[in-house]
Amino acid sequence: MTEEKIEYIQWYPGHMAKANREIKEKLKLIDVVIEVVDARLPLSSKNPEINQYTWNKQHILLLNKADLADPDVSQDWIDWFKKNTDIQEIMLYDAFDRRHKTELVKQIQRLNVKNKAQLKCMICGIPNVGKSTVINSLIGKKKTQVGNKPGVTKGQQWLSTPDKLMLLDTPGILWPKFEDPLVGLHLAWLGSIKDTIYEKENIAADLLKYLVAYYPDELEVLYKITLDDKNLPEVFDAIAKSRGLLLRAGEYDYTRTSVLLLNDFKNGRIGRITLERP
Ligand code: GDP
Repeated sequence: MTEEKIEYIQWYPGHMAKANREIKEKLKLIDVVIEVVDARLPLSSKNPEINQYTWNKQHILLLNKADLADPDVSQDWIDWFKKNTDIQEIMLYDAFDRRHKTELVKQIQRLNVKNKAQLKCMICGIPNVGKSTVINSLIGKKKTQVGNKPGVTKGQQWLSTPDKLMLLDTPGILWPKFEDPLVGLHLAWLGSIKDTIYEKENIAADLLKYLVAYYPDELEVLYKITLDDKNLPEVFDAIAKSRGLLLRAGEYDYTRTSVLLLNDFKNGRIGRITLERP
């Protein structure tokens, strides 16, 4: 089994201060901030301080990778954000779905309250939530139209989209909430935080615990196991056994089973799963 490429988040105070400065500078020119979070963990993948930057902007929130998230919980999240934030537009989003992109453009244009000829937009979010994918979908093709526009601060690259939007070609990179240990765990489930092999087994065990509690049917179907009243180590064994992940006769390979579980989850093979609920 080959382990897939994992993007690591490693933030230090220096990174955060630099990102802060960059975003503030770029935002001077921006009409619409399009914030991207992961629909499977909409709060954990949200920057805790983004409101500082968006209070005087139009603000759209994309719950991206909605194709991988539990549709019922996603709807609960939409309702929660509507009730608890003053974000103008909140959308379930799949960055690979053309219809979603069309709807996004419509919503952006609806927010053009000052009737500007071209709205300036910026995509923001923590690493790995799909910012580049959203940028590419809005452009509709590879970034070939890059060019500096006169009158715009030097160094900013603007892309004009087929829908007459001006898009900053680099996303605004924000950091996640570190203070909450549960957020760290959630981001580790997604492979967004660096881990060692030993930690991988713990991370997989925590994930399995959550899946047994919330998504037992999906586990049974994918791994062809029955959960009955098995405890957690027994479920781990059952998955290893079902997939033939043995170290030697009678001894299961927990490292490979952990990697299998984490990868199956990340790739949506277990099903559409959301890791936190409002
Ligand atoms: P960035 O670091 O925020 O720019 O994230 P990327 O755009 O590089 O995306 C990270 C990973 O998520 C890539 O493997 C993308 O293919 C994947 N991805 C992005 N958006 C979606 C989506 O809506 N659905 C699914 N299933 N995968 C997505």
